[in-house]
Amino acid sequence: MSLSRRSIALVGSVLLMACTAESNAPHAPAAGGSTLFHAGMVGALLAGVYDGQFEIEAVRKHGDFGLGGFHALDGEMVVLDGHVYQVTSDGKVHGVPDAAKTPFAAVTFFRPEQRIAWSSTQGRTPAFEAFLERERLAPQRLYAIKITGRFKRLLARSVAAQTPPYRPLPEVIAASQKTFPFENVEGTMVGFRLPQHVNGVNLPGYHFHFLDRARTAGGHVLEYEIDQADVEMQLLHGYTVELPEGAAFYEVDLARDRRNDIRAIE
Ligand SMILES: [Zn+2]
Repeated sequence: MSLSRRSIALVGSVLLMACTAESNAPHAPAAGGSTLFHAGMVGALLAGVYDGQFEIEAVRKHGDFGLGGFHALDGEMVVLDGHVYQVTSDGKVHGVPDAAKTPFAAVTFFRPEQRIAWSSTQGRTPAFEAFLERERLAPQRLYAIKITGRFKRLLARSVAAQTPPYRPLPEVIAASQKTFPFENVEGTMVGFRLPQHVNGVNLPGYHFHFLDRARTAGGHVLEYEIDQADVEMQLLHGYTVELPEGAAFYEVDLARDRRNDIRAIE
């Protein structure tokens, strides 16, 4: 009896040490697992609020993995392994200084808990996503997903910097998005599968940004077909939203249902 009590006490102290070490690590995830941090809201972006309100340095403090956009809608953001990349409308990839600004970004500390391999013999994209929904992901939960490997086909896009007065995002996408078709490309899709209840804050469903293996090309993913890839997933235990100070954010209707707008930009 006393032996087992001692064992329990020992286990308890080991766990405590592990927690302490974790919380002292730089940029440690919050206790209880990673959450999804939002700088701004997709609803404002859809309405045309493109001025950068959050410095990249501040966003990086909340995650090493994610996606977003840049001041004036100048390209697509990919955050991978703690590096922030900008895919501009010419399809090229650039490093981003910490002082650059974003109107919207969503990041987390990526610590995958589930891994699967997927190959084209198992099915195309609808079958892949249906498998995840059926076997791996709970409908109401939030997940970070990283897909690394070879893609038979992938269609990415980016958008050029806009000038005020800004038009709503669906209009900008329809008028001026640039698309980049890839075939048999190796690289990484970085993104999330989010439930309907995040509507307004982020995009429900699957949302990926892509970087090729050399990190020289990429963009927001419009279509993809996995050839052979490792799929890593992490359950996120909640989300936070930081609201900007800029007045433009509060002048648009943040309560409006923009699901039709979301369909138009995907
Ligand atoms: Zn995107």
